[in-house]
Amino acid sequence: MFESQREQHRPASADGPAESISESDGVRQGSSVEEAAADATKGAAGRQAPRPAKNRLLEALPRQDREQLLARCERVELRLADVLCEPEERIRSVLFPTGSIISLITCADANASLEVGLVGDEGMLGNSLLLGVNVSPHRALVQRAGTAWSIRAPAFSRELERSVALRRELGRYLYIVQRQLARTAICTHFHGLDARLARWLLTTSDRVHCDQFYITQGFISSMLGVRRAGVNRAAGLLQDRELIRYSRGQLSILDRRGLQAAACECYLTAKQTYDRILG
Ligand SMILES: [Zn+2]
Repeated sequence: MFESQREQHRPASADGPAESISESDGVRQGSSVEEAAADATKGAAGRQAPRPAKNRLLEALPRQDREQLLARCERVELRLADVLCEPEERIRSVLFPTGSIISLITCADANASLEVGLVGDEGMLGNSLLLGVNVSPHRALVQRAGTAWSIRAPAFSRELERSVALRRELGRYLYIVQRQLARTAICTHFHGLDARLARWLLTTSDRVHCDQFYITQGFISSMLGVRRAGVNRAAGLLQDRELIRYSRGQLSILDRRGLQAAACECYLTAKQTYDRILG
């Protein structure tokens, strides 16, 4: 949770009444990215994705360290299309998603953006605090509504000082994030759009824990930093190969192994790096 986020989510299990929020407070209007995200997963149909209750980073901690950290967290509900922070905005709290997905976005200008990371229940938001930097490097946008553990930045910093295991675990995660950023640069520059799209769909599917989800071409084009017509062509190629089915925003992965073969190596590289460092 970042500086502007306090007004944007409500505690999922509050001791007191939930904070009063409205759509106009929660969603920043006027940006094609946010509008696309709002359309991206609403009305999801088909098989309902299971919502994992846990975060892999927290689960990997020794029990005592995990319980000490969770005692200082509150469970929050992130809303679709909420902008959790903007670049250079002060970090108020750290989030560990347990059912939500957050896109990390770098903006070239008001009309051009690129997704540089996707955080689900395998990661965290606010990791620059590990480096002693209390501002966010990216825009963070809720791509899928759901739950997360939230801890205020000062309490998180105290836990970092106290727990060697927490520092070690999250330091490893920070390395993975650095690798992901470098890989995104390589992927954007060197790899074809159909391969990038296949990678993005697989990564999103992994975070959603489901092979079917609702996603608009407009949202995908914003995340990949390409024109919508390009996404249309790339999705058509994957569909012609019967790897996916895509109709009116409903995306189904029909052949996961085939889609992995169609994706650039970035997908498997990212998975293998995570499993090697944190698995
Ligand atoms: Zn790639």
